[in-house]
Amino acid sequence: GKGDVHGEVVVLGSGPGGYSAAFRAADLGKSVVLIEKYPVLGGVCLNVGCIPSKALLHVAKVITEAEEMASHGVSFGKPKINLDDLRDFKSGVVKQLTGGLSGLAKTRKVKVVQGYGRFTGPNMIAVEGDDGSTTKVSFDQCIIAAGSEPVKLPFIPHDDDRVIDSTGALELKDIPKRMLVLGGGIIGLEMACVYDALGSKVTVVEFMDQLMPGADKDMVKPLHKRIEGRYENILLKTKVKNVEALKGGLKVTFENDKGEESTDTFDKVLVSVGRRPNGKLIDAGAAGVAVDDRGFIAVDRQQRTGVSHIFAIGDVVGQPMLAHKAVHEGKVAAEVCAGEKRFFDAQVIPSVAYTDPEVAWVGLTETEAKAKGIAYEKGVFPWAASGRSLANGRSEGITKVLFDPEDQRVIGASIVGTNAGDLISEVALAIEMGADAIDLGHTIHPHPTLSETVNFAAEMYEGTITDLM
Ligand code: FAD
Repeated sequence: GKGDVHGEVVVLGSGPGGYSAAFRAADLGKSVVLIEKYPVLGGVCLNVGCIPSKALLHVAKVITEAEEMASHGVSFGKPKINLDDLRDFKSGVVKQLTGGLSGLAKTRKVKVVQGYGRFTGPNMIAVEGDDGSTTKVSFDQCIIAAGSEPVKLPFIPHDDDRVIDSTGALELKDIPKRMLVLGGGIIGLEMACVYDALGSKVTVVEFMDQLMPGADKDMVKPLHKRIEGRYENILLKTKVKNVEALKGGLKVTFENDKGEESTDTFDKVLVSVGRRPNGKLIDAGAAGVAVDDRGFIAVDRQQRTGVSHIFAIGDVVGQPMLAHKAVHEGKVAAEVCAGEKRFFDAQVIPSVAYTDPEVAWVGLTETEAKAKGIAYEKGVFPWAASGRSLANGRSEGITKVLFDPEDQRVIGASIVGTNAGDLISEVALAIEMGADAIDLGHTIHPHPTLSETVNFAAEMYEGTITDLM
């Protein structure tokens, strides 16, 4: 019909995976259509994920650092928080980036179709606009980048506006007096960090026996210790059985690992128990694309689904659900669409929690090595011996690098401390390059920097360290 469009490559979803795929395919000469249900591009990451959370975490860090300056002889008054201005700062950052994306799409002649897309056949997606109109988008090849959404729990009154997910937390409607963060994973802990700094009394509840399950326990410990001193409560091995919306607050029933129940009432509950992929919501079956029970779409190393001209990337294809993974996969899919012999051959994908302190890991962790019986040796450098960390007024960090006992190659690292997220990249490169302990230990690192701790960890392993400062 009129207004129907065709793209050699059609991308469904404009998150980091989708826009990277669309731009790369266009740069390689393909005519590209990008379908997005929201009026702005950028997906979760730019609008309600990575970027707005980091804007708020930046502010949180400045507030807590200012508080702690008192012990270094400089004191500031109690921070005055103007929520409207803070929200404007956050929204301004998001707007600048999403606006930039629209410009980049235009420059490349990527056609953006706004509306909700569903497959109607192996070469067709019907896009329903907000006004109820339908645009048919046909394609030679398609890249599914539909992303994920926060998981909801059946026993929680999600329709009560005091129950929020990460998107609600980032909206920053108010600063609750007492807030429960349900789920001690990366997203929950980042948001806890923000609301604690803004003045909320925070309780975190986690079902497992440590915060940030998946990361090595010893690396989470410094974070745990620090927030334990700041937050009202950290409940481990505890599950939430019920949340009741009462006039005076949200009454939460907890059950610990001994089966003992207790209740407490909060002004807000942030549910951060994971994300589920959007694979079930796009009628993928109409195109013959298989979606598993949880909503994930299986792909091969070229990001191809079971249908050879349809690809999938990002959160919708599986863990880890991270923006940099989505971007990498998006580029692979686009290049394969353009006929290049490309496949996903990254050896490692770093993970970072932008809490204070940050926790980052890449490649093998000790937890994984032990679970799988993988042999390793390690070099560990405590930041209490880092001149730079002490000068920063912080001493709780740890840098741990894992080596293959056979050839001393770097096979993983975990870092906890300020800026750990930036530091982990060096180890990612070391692993990709096949570097060994001597490579890390003999590379001259600038002094005094936190990056030296990677160098020192390798020297600790080699037994060649002389000066710990
Ligand atoms: P998404 O970003 O989810 O984008 C999918 C897009 O597709 C959305 O815009 C959606 O509207 C659209 N869409 C879906 N279905 C349809 C349809 N049928 N029709 C039309 N459009 C559709 N990752 C990091 O790496 N670092 C971080 O610091 C980080 N912080 C995070 C903080 C929070 C609070 C959250 C929630 C997530 C964070 N993440 C972070 C995860 C990161 O946001 C995701 O991994 C990333 O956005 C996934 O990209 P994607 O392209 O797969 O999908």
